[in-house]
Amino acid sequence: MPGEIYFKTLAQLQEALASKSISSVELTRDHLDRIQAVDGRIQAFNSWDEEDCLRQAEASDERRAAGRIKGPLDGIPVGVKDVIAVRDQPLTCSSRMLEHFVSPYDATVISRLKNAGAVLLGRLNMDEFAMGSSTENSAIKITFNPWDTSRVAGGSSGGSAAAVAAGELPVSLGSDTGGSIRQPASFCGVVGLKPTYGLVSRFGLVAFASSLDQIGPLTRTVGDAGRMLQVIAGHDPRDSTSIDTSPPDYSEGLAEKKGPWKLGVPQEYFAEGLDPEVKAAIEAAIDWYADRGCEIVEISLPHMHLAISVYYIIATAEASSNLARYDGVRYTHRSDRAGDVVDLYFKSRAEGFGEEVKRRIILGTYVLSSGYYDAYYLRAQKIRSLIRQDFTKAFAKVDGLLTPTSPFVSFKAGEKTRDPLAMYLSDIYTISANLAGIPGISLPCGFNSQGLPIGLQILGEPMEEANLLAIAHSFERAHDFTDRHPNPAPPD
Ligand code: GLN
Repeated sequence: MPGEIYFKTLAQLQEALASKSISSVELTRDHLDRIQAVDGRIQAFNSWDEEDCLRQAEASDERRAAGRIKGPLDGIPVGVKDVIAVRDQPLTCSSRMLEHFVSPYDATVISRLKNAGAVLLGRLNMDEFAMGSSTENSAIKITFNPWDTSRVAGGSSGGSAAAVAAGELPVSLGSDTGGSIRQPASFCGVVGLKPTYGLVSRFGLVAFASSLDQIGPLTRTVGDAGRMLQVIAGHDPRDSTSIDTSPPDYSEGLAEKKGPWKLGVPQEYFAEGLDPEVKAAIEAAIDWYADRGCEIVEISLPHMHLAISVYYIIATAEASSNLARYDGVRYTHRSDRAGDVVDLYFKSRAEGFGEEVKRRIILGTYVLSSGYYDAYYLRAQKIRSLIRQDFTKAFAKVDGLLTPTSPFVSFKAGEKTRDPLAMYLSDIYTISANLAGIPGISLPCGFNSQGLPIGLQILGEPMEEANLLAIAHSFERAHDFTDRHPNPAPPD
């Protein structure tokens, strides 16, 4: 195939495999070579097993030769955030706590990828237990931004975004609790989709905040995000919050659906703190939709200013409960300095968890403690309902909302690590979609004067991913942002 194989889209690779112009072994080897060449600088991968990857690819080629293709991803290399269980592969959550843990089972999304024939290429770095916005909270390594390796990839799915941006993988899976797919996608200039809460099974996703967590794809194009969603979406009886419905065809007629749509611009997203160059790029995108005949409506989401506070109460409360299972007794890090069992709990947790995870556990335990429960947790739940209502009212008027994904572009590594509040502000535009359970997509919509990518976020109604993808796709195909690629320098 002409051109660099590692910047092809999923759609192009599917075609190349189908026409036999490339084999899965060649494709997999090319990506492994690419990882070898650039991952020293990017540090997107926590681990990968070359032999196992090539075995999977060989099996795919044999299936294809025998005319027994499993599904749409047959032979395609896919990377997985190190928080999603793959049988017999490490599942570290980028934490010392799970440093030596190997998963005994597959997450439902992984069974789906396997049934579709995917080659599972490796484990992608993240903030520890998905808590963070820069992948600097990983206990394993920092992932750097392929567009400028002195900057962060975003987080917490930083490895998933950077690997796709750097050409190490055509597609990956991430998870999004408050923006962790969309924000790194925007920092790295790729597409990231957070589906409706309940559309994709959480079975086998290590829980951070169970009422907010959702798995989704990171890809090079909007169409590819739809292709991946098609594979992973659908009802799962093993996840009690899974929605019992069959997903529609996400790629059908994407190119034909050109609107015009009624699109809302929430004024609260354009207030103080928004970088002027990001603002200009988003406004240009809004103008583009307006020029295409879309009606642009100014919308108000009056409880938006409470979203960060509410999130850091609910997410930490759920995290403090979910992370109670890591006690040093069974599969986690176990302190060898402990005297009795209580000491074992204390020391194993003190040694196993990083600073940010401890901060969240302490915060979450506090807001759930008797005496503070009503004042914090219960109140936060009430405001969460109001935030949800704000969106319901907005979607009575419009088909989608256009916003920035993040208030700023990728920042320098180390710039925000000492100031948790500044870090938390990274998610100001993404968090409310998780609180409301609605889908959101981030797609590249420009570059700033330093050549760093800017992401446009489009939010949609629950279960309206097909519509969301169509709105995003119409913008993408009229621009060339997804055709530009970074050139991460080879290792020193
Ligand atoms: N950055 C947010 C946090 O630190 C969101 C993380 C996520 O979506 N997993 O909690």
